[in-house]
Formats: sequence, structure tokens, C-alpha cells
Amino acid sequence: MILMFLGAPGAGKGTRADIASRMLGIPTVSTGEIIREAIRNKTPLGLEAEKAMADGGLVPDELVIEIVKGRISLPDCAGGYILDGFPRTVSQAEALQKMGIVIDLVISVEASDDLIVERLCGRQICPKCGTTYHTVDLPSKDGKTCDKCGTALAVRKDDNPEIVRKRLGVYHKQSEPLKDFYKKLGHYVEIDGTKGIETATAQLSVLLREKI
Ligand code: AMP
Repeated sequence: MILMFLGAPGAGKGTRADIASRMLGIPTVSTGEIIREAIRNKTPLGLEAEKAMADGGLVPDELVIEIVKGRISLPDCAGGYILDGFPRTVSQAEALQKMGIVIDLVISVEASDDLIVERLCGRQICPKCGTTYHTVDLPSKDGKTCDKCGTALAVRKDDNPEIVRKRLGVYHKQSEPLKDFYKKLGHYVEIDGTKGIETATAQLSVLLREKI
């Protein structure tokens, strides 16, 4: 089974992809995560991607397509996977088609730009275990360290208001056309990204039961 989550940065697609991953027992393939790891490890891909990511732009299609090809050919993807953050351009979607990959369900997560700016500008992430917090909506117990593993929380460099607005502009121009691309192909649904984790989990469990 292959699922795809579309949506603006901060709309909640990563959270929902992780919930679906646990429900279905298949891995999440997050291009943003893979690129961030490459940047941390200073690999050639990381060095090439770093500036684009810091500026809120997209990493070149060819690079991202190669990353995804490599990742989905690993054994843990043999029983299916969930694409989170890929594709982000129509060229990337066409590359997936050329690889002969058929998506069982495309889920677009919807949220307004204003809500996204508020959400992303308070986001804190545990660099060790990946748990996400929010300074106002979901603070850790002391607001500074991870409740699960005690690591000091970090803020992503691209989660500041100026860069977030830029990332939203990139989304509307380059990624939003993907909604029409997949609507035409069918197996496309939109869900509300403004709900909390419990409602999102219930929504997804109904959706996956109905549609798949
Ligand atoms: P994300 O964690 O999904 O918000 O991605 C963070 C950043 O990684 C984006 O702002 C882009 O710079 C880069 N990125 C992630 N996925 C892609 C993609 N499919 N195509 C191009 N750039 C990407």
C-alpha cells in the first residue's frame, strides 16, 4: 500500500503521516527528514541542499527524485510506504509516474496560512527522538527539554516568520497544483489539518477503513 500526504509546510501532514504509519505498520518516507539528516552529516547532498532549505526554497527536483528512488527501494518499503513531503512539484509527481508507482490514496491536509505561521513559529523539536512540541499549544513540562528523553529542544532554522511566509509562497506556487494533478487521477481526499492528535487519529482510522 502506498499513501501520499500533500499539504503546506506546517499543515500537519508529518504528524498525520506518522499516525498512519503506526496504524498500517509501514514506514514514512519524509524527504524533509532525509535532507535534514544529510545536512547534519555534511554529505554531498546535504551541502547542496543546505542553502535552498535555509532560504525556504525547494531542493532541485533531480536530487530529491534520486533520494526517493533510493529510499523506496530499501527492504522496509517492500510492503508499502507513506510519502510525506514528496512530491512537491508536478515534475516530481511525473517522475513517480514514470517509475510506475501507483498511489492508493492521496490525502491533502488543509490549514490556513495564518494558522500555519502561528503553528510553525512556536514549534520545538527534540533533536534526539523527533518528538514535536509547541511553546503554546503543546509545551513540554519545562518548556525546554524533551519529556520523553530529556534532550534540550531545538527550533528549526526555517521555522521563523519570514522564512515560513516564503515557504508558504513556494507551496502555493509550486506544490498546490499537485492537488488538481491528483484529483484528476482519483483516489484523492482532503482532511482538516487544524484538529488535535486525537481527532486526527479518529479521522484517519475511518478514512483508511473506508478508502482502502
Ligand atoms: P519539510 O520538513 O517537509 O517541511 O521540508 C523542509 C525543506 O526540505 C523544504 O522547505 C525544502 O527545502 C526541502 N524539501 C523537502 N522535500 C522536498 C521536495 N520533495 N522537493 C524539494 N525540496 C524538498
